[in-house]
Amino acid sequence: MRDRAAEGTVALRVNPIQCEGVGMCAHLAPEVITIDPWGFPMFPLGPLTPEQASQVQRAVNGCPKRALVLDNRR
Ligand code: SF4
Repeated sequence: MRDRAAEGTVALRVNPIQCEGVGMCAHLAPEVITIDPWGFPMFPLGPLTPEQASQVQRAVNGCPKRALVLDNRR
């Protein structure tokens, strides 16, 4: 099986319906996710580096609304 994170082909997505703008994700992945003035996450739309993907996985796991997804599609 190919490791998409190692290839830099995973990207972060947010479900805007589920996200409530709590902002916990930015605390769990501060090098990737920032918060806009309303508390909603902002992050690079393109592929993540393996290091970014590792950090973002903590935010995905820690989101209380399960609004973040690491997308493996190309
Ligand atoms: S932790 Fe989840 S619910 Fe909170 S701002 Fe981030 S994505 Fe949205």
